[in-house]
Amino acid sequence: MDVLISGAGIAGPALAWWLARGGARPVVVERAAALRTGGHAVDLRGAAIDVVSQMGLLPAIQAARTELATLSIVRSAGKPPIALSIPRALSQRSRDLEIVRDELAHILYDATRARAEYIFRRARGPRPARARHLR
Ligand SMILES: Cc1cc2nc3c(=O)[nH]c(=O)nc-3n(C[C@H](O)[C@H](O)[C@H](O)COP(=O)(O)OP(=O)(O)OC[C@H]3O[C@@H](n4cnc5c(N)ncnc54)[C@H](O)[C@@H]3O)c2cc1C
Repeated sequence: MDVLISGAGIAGPALAWWLARGGARPVVVERAAALRTGGHAVDLRGAAIDVVSQMGLLPAIQAARTELATLSIVRSAGKPPIALSIPRALSQRSRDLEIVRDELAHILYDATRARAEYIFRRARGPRPARARHLR
């Protein structure tokens, strides 16, 4: 069964992974010419940790995780900001994972590019370029 997925962000590749595992042939169409990079840190919590664990992606995500080192409180004009250092042990105690969205998008794409077909918009011109990454 072919399944068309719109968007190669976070949800699209994650859905492609699970559909491919179930025997479907996912085709992910992306209106951008390539994976959209950029973004700040996003948190993976609760069920999301279980899901990436079942996908076998937990080690890669843990390796790419970011850590809160300092909490800065910006105050009114003229007053210097307050900087609070977060002990490393404290930030690592949590089961939650913080990762830059860009890294997460690439991890999910890399995990699915052999199982799904990705079609990105051609950089110039109206017709899509087919970036085939089939099994
Ligand atoms: C570049 C970028 C940076 C971001 N940075 C942050 C961040 O720092 N922190 C945060 O909390 N959230 C951020 N977001 C918001 C983001 O929506 C969520 O964090 C999370 O990525 C949601 O995943 P998603 O797959 O639902 O949507 P997205 O990650 O937004 O992915 C949707 C994808 O679908 C594509 N698309 C949309 N419409 C169509 C269409 N009609 N046809 C084909 N493709 C289509 C888009 O180009 C995009 O690549 C960012 C989103 C983007 C795109």
